[in-house]
Amino acid sequence: MESISQLSHESVNDSIVSLFECPVCYEYLTPPIYQCKNAHNICSKCKEHITKCPTCGEIYLDSRSVFVEQIAERLLYPCKNLEVGCYEKYSLQDIEKHHEVCSHRMYECLPGKADNCKWKGRSFDILTHMMDAHASSCWMVDENNILYDYNVFEGVEDLQLVSAYHEVFWYNFKCDATKQKLFLAVQYIGPQELACTFTYEFELCADTDEEKSIIIKNRTRPDTEKLNDIYDSASCIVLDFATVKHFVDSNNSVSFCLRLKRVMAGDSTDGIKDR
Ligand SMILES: [Zn+2]
Ligand SMILES: [Zn+2]
Ligand SMILES: [Zn+2]
Ligand SMILES: [Zn+2]
Repeated sequence: MESISQLSHESVNDSIVSLFECPVCYEYLTPPIYQCKNAHNICSKCKEHITKCPTCGEIYLDSRSVFVEQIAERLLYPCKNLEVGCYEKYSLQDIEKHHEVCSHRMYECLPGKADNCKWKGRSFDILTHMMDAHASSCWMVDENNILYDYNVFEGVEDLQLVSAYHEVFWYNFKCDATKQKLFLAVQYIGPQELACTFTYEFELCADTDEEKSIIIKNRTRPDTEKLNDIYDSASCIVLDFATVKHFVDSNNSVSFCLRLKRVMAGDSTDGIKDR
């Protein structure tokens, strides 16, 4: 028989957490936790629509299981995406925050929203879905020439999926007529902490004058960051329309090159704007 000192804190935690399962919905029990007359526990959601305990048939009490709740507050619960590969554990206080940014969470189809696409899936399935349903909004290259019609430039808003280096990214482009600025941000889809391992380089050239160009380099941002926050904090490419105007070509288009790069160990980070 193992003594307590031979068991790791983690295995003690895990064996207690495994007891914290609602007998009705099988979700983890988290406060508020209720109990029947014989002290069998139930989650608050299930208590709303069930009157008798499925274990003993007794009625549920209106008082909460304070002691059980106190234990729950001290436990580390596994991420709800455990079955698809997230092995992280958090206190009740932090787990919801983790679920919002967990790279194994369910993703919505952002580019398909305008077409009412209801797809939901994991990050590793986004590319397949995009290729099947929205192939015109995908690029499979790490360098792309992008062109927008200057006649309608002030209203341009664009969202595309970029697949490069066996990873996926969102390319976001927005012209804000009120602010008279364009915003361009590339977001890395995956674990937040890896977003800083990629950069994107924006190059705007005038077709009349090879010497005249603007090159801006930036790190990709995590896809968990809100796009408006990225734009507002200028953690992206921001250019005034007045500047862009000088680069409109003879076909009345604005075109630029975007290059995605993986940051290699020892790479100079000069010229890369961090927040
Ligand atoms: Zn329940
Ligand atoms: Zn009971
Ligand atoms: Zn997770
Ligand atoms: Zn879709």
